Amino acid sequence: MSDTREDLKNLQPIVLKMIMNSLVKERVAHAYLFDGDPGTGKKKTAFYFAKSLLCEKEGEIPCNDCRNCRRIDSGNHPDVHVIEPDGLSIKKQQIVFLQQEFSKTAVEAKRKIYIINHADKMTASAANSLLKFLEEPASDTVAFLLTEQSQRMLPTIISRCQLLSFQPLPPASLKEQLTEEGISLPIAALVSRLTNNIDEALRLSQEEWFAQSRKIVLKLYEVLLKKPLEAMVKLQEDFNGHFKDKQQVSLALDLLLLLFKDLLSVQTGEEQRLAYPDQLALLKKTALQSSIAKTTEQLTAILEAKRKLDANMNPQLLMEQLVLKLQGGTSFV
Ligand SMILES: [Zn+2]
Repeated sequence: MSDTREDLKNLQPIVLKMIMNSLVKERVAHAYLFDGDPGTGKKKTAFYFAKSLLCEKEGEIPCNDCRNCRRIDSGNHPDVHVIEPDGLSIKKQQIVFLQQEFSKTAVEAKRKIYIINHADKMTASAANSLLKFLEEPASDTVAFLLTEQSQRMLPTIISRCQLLSFQPLPPASLKEQLTEEGISLPIAALVSRLTNNIDEALRLSQEEWFAQSRKIVLKLYEVLLKKPLEAMVKLQEDFNGHFKDKQQVSLALDLLLLLFKDLLSVQTGEEQRLAYPDQLALLKKTALQSSIAKTTEQLTAILEAKRKLDANMNPQLLMEQLVLKLQGGTSFV
């Protein structure tokens, strides 16, 4: 099993520092709001914090080995409650049940802790019950409200919490999480550069359409650099049939942009973080035939195309113009 503390240090160093700080200074708030994208470690952090508060050993870092730590890890601690949406929402009776549990004297620990996952999914009456609970906190209670959409929560609840913003997943962590889910490295590397939302990344990774998109863009790139005069044919053959609407062409431009960025990385000797790591041989080969100046011009042309697409230029026409620019570079007039 991986070490949570090490994971959090990499994933959310600022959040971890703030938690340590409040533990050291013994200024633990009654309620925290963890706001961040899926997969950014909110639940992991809540459990880590709970262990830090209830661990039987001295100090701020949980031992992961005492009775309390082990029971929290296995979800069996009588003073740590987790509320998840029941179906689509968190209902009033779930909050009422929690309050009843908490009104019993502390079962055994020094603190009672509750974690509400997807707190934005509370119904209005659930949120109002919780609000009353937050307004009169028992001195030994700590709440963790977890959300991906804090803008959907009652401002009166937010104002009673200490807000901790979780930073978006860095591409390297996202890539790792995707490969752990069984996604192949070429797809994981590429998808992790397109989004930092794990749910969206997983959805893209599993789409046959996306895998096909990647192949078509790679093919276009290869033709552009090897037989530039055939690129327009390639465009009409596969590209236009696959990338039909504005949104799809926009993704194609992003894929192309990442490919030329990879080319630039290879030309400047920074090959560690490629979006297309399995294409290193092709990239090296084309790097020899091109120059940094030319690649920079090509990147500029792609960015220009993205702007024109946003301004609603016809996608097919725009791609034709782009291919002309990409195949020529400066030498082709
Ligand atoms: Zn412990």
